[in-house]
Amino acid sequence: MPAVTADTFTLPRLARPAPDARFRPVKRVAGSLRTFEGEGFPVRRPFPNHGLDQVDPFVLFDHMGAVDYGPGEAKGTPWHPHRGFETVTYIIDGAFEHEDSTGGGGLITNGATQWMTAGAGILHIEKPPESLVASGGLFHGVQLWVNLPSADKFVSPKYQDIHSADLALVSNHDGSALVRVIAGEIGGFNGPGMTHTPIAYLHASVPPGSEVEIELPEGYNTFAYALSGGGFAGLEDAVVNEGELALFGPGSAIKLRGGESQPSNGTGSWEVLILGGQPISEPVARYGPFVMNTKDEIRQALEDFQSGRMGNIPVRSTE
Ligand code: MN
Repeated sequence: MPAVTADTFTLPRLARPAPDARFRPVKRVAGSLRTFEGEGFPVRRPFPNHGLDQVDPFVLFDHMGAVDYGPGEAKGTPWHPHRGFETVTYIIDGAFEHEDSTGGGGLITNGATQWMTAGAGILHIEKPPESLVASGGLFHGVQLWVNLPSADKFVSPKYQDIHSADLALVSNHDGSALVRVIAGEIGGFNGPGMTHTPIAYLHASVPPGSEVEIELPEGYNTFAYALSGGGFAGLEDAVVNEGELALFGPGSAIKLRGGESQPSNGTGSWEVLILGGQPISEPVARYGPFVMNTKDEIRQALEDFQSGRMGNIPVRSTE
């Protein structure tokens, strides 16, 4: 159950796209690779994956859980570095705790987003809080990697803690669906996330039969990802079920419609993330936690990490 809910009928509404809007076609619907991240928490990864390496400027998308942990089961990551991009962690259910080599970090809980600009380099650890480990419970979230343009790859590390109350909440044209704006601007409504290149990051809850139409800049690469439930994308009604990503082609607006039947263990709505971003259109060289432009820069990143130039694990940590 997404933490941020609202009575959609009381919210400001998005205008329908202009009559001359060109709805983006669905180029393809891609499934996810099921794998484990960190010390063994389950993720579904629509990209990078066979056939879909990135959706520029987005270089990785991990759908974490949903998993209902038993006591002692919850897992996170060991300490690890990042350079050259931003990790954006949106926690829908449960909590994730961050700590990093600059002394920053914090707890990301129900509906909150942590926007970490790794920039020149940082070490961090991402883990469930001890209370969640002890009791077990639901854990559900998404970690998105947003690439940085070459000019910004060495900016200083930075955090944005976006609380659930900071999100812009709007409804679709008839008040039936909820759209949370985490970053970017749609229809004059602005999300709190500050970005280096223009993107939009939205989470929509779309009830059965409800239609959501959103204008996004024509230059954006755009996709929708089903967190739970199912629905249809585009005028062609491409089926998009949980764990699937619909990649849109060119146009000025997207269209989504909630499926008539939704799983009984869900929210009753199609829970779908909508991402759009202006492509950076630069070469991408990546290796594990580093995303650079050239292989030489990857070699440099490994060297800098190994010699402690990306920071060190704080001594107070017991990890
Ligand atoms: Mn990380």
